[in-house]
Amino acid sequence: MSLKVSKRRELVAQSEIRSMSIECDRVDGINLSQGVCDTEIPIIVRQGAHAAMENGINTYTRYDGLAELRSAIAAKQERFTGMKVDSEREVIVSAGATGALLCTCLALLNPGDEVIVFEPFYGYHISTMETTQAVPVYIKTDPPEWKFSYEDLEKKRTGKTRAILVSTPSNPSGKVFSSNELDMIATFASEHDLFVITDEIYEHFIYDGLRHIAPATLPGMKNRTITISGVSKTYSITGWRVGYCICDAEWAETIGYFNDLIYVCAPAPLQMGVAEGLLNIGGEYYENLARDYERKRDKICDALSRAGLEPYIPQGAYYVLADISGVSGATGKDKAMTLLYETKIACVPGEAFFQNGGGETLGRFCFAKDDEVLEEACRRLIKLRT
Ligand code: PLP
Repeated sequence: MSLKVSKRRELVAQSEIRSMSIECDRVDGINLSQGVCDTEIPIIVRQGAHAAMENGINTYTRYDGLAELRSAIAAKQERFTGMKVDSEREVIVSAGATGALLCTCLALLNPGDEVIVFEPFYGYHISTMETTQAVPVYIKTDPPEWKFSYEDLEKKRTGKTRAILVSTPSNPSGKVFSSNELDMIATFASEHDLFVITDEIYEHFIYDGLRHIAPATLPGMKNRTITISGVSKTYSITGWRVGYCICDAEWAETIGYFNDLIYVCAPAPLQMGVAEGLLNIGGEYYENLARDYERKRDKICDALSRAGLEPYIPQGAYYVLADISGVSGATGKDKAMTLLYETKIACVPGEAFFQNGGGETLGRFCFAKDDEVLEEACRRLIKLRT
């Protein structure tokens, strides 16, 4: 038989994150590799979804989402970032931020178009682009500040450059792009007529008094920016698959058609639950969320330091990259395995976030965990040293 799976198979090889999770389960360890928050869902969100189900909101929605949710997203975006959004024409509700990015790439990028991305990167960004035959072009950034310059951007530009992808706060580094850096990206994008595709899923997970800046709010950026976000993380509903993108109507229609083709719509009653949350949950919830996660960040960073695994303190999101070079093993994967067997703590080997063998001295630890679990994880890490 000469039948084979397609060449695209290589693009969806089991991620390092999943394989660490499987091994972690096998040894009954604490899983700090996967970014699944196990904190509580706001009750209003849960009840909103239940009520919608009971009230018959169970069929296909419009291809770009329920009007209630689109208008709640527009209102929330204006409240948090000052950005004015037309909910009828500029919002597409999709199957998570992941779905929104896939539809954006299909709608706006041609095969061979290059997209500048920062390294370390989130693997799904790369696989999504490659699946749509766009070509990621990497700018390597280094700890602790993960900085880049205008020159770095220019060096990566070719005649095929079509977009730049910005993830702020970033997974895995926790970098929050500064206003200077975003200005630089805005100037570069305007100068060379590029799309800016953002991933702002961690917009509320921000520490040390820093502020999230939505790139679309910078002067001249609204038309060329595709703002991707969602509430998987903010409301701890990663399995609901509700996310969105906001962009100019000129792009939104086509992105929406791809959304229709691939997903038809996000789950109808769950859209209503999210709308209830966005409309009714006040600013205090988001402030507490940031404060709570800042405390978790401090706890794990302290434990990592004490274990001799120097952490690169994240400014946002809920992961920390730490230096695991002192752990035995030839590769990052070996080191992560040693750590798992010695402490029963799973992290993700750094190679997962770099191309061509970078990141082998790093491990990524997720701290979106209940306090009790996090505390036990910290105790185990600290014992590594003693
Ligand atoms: N974007 C980033 C940077 C992430 O880290 C994740 C999840 O880990 C996602 C998107 C997934 O978001 P969603 O659940 O809305 O698809």
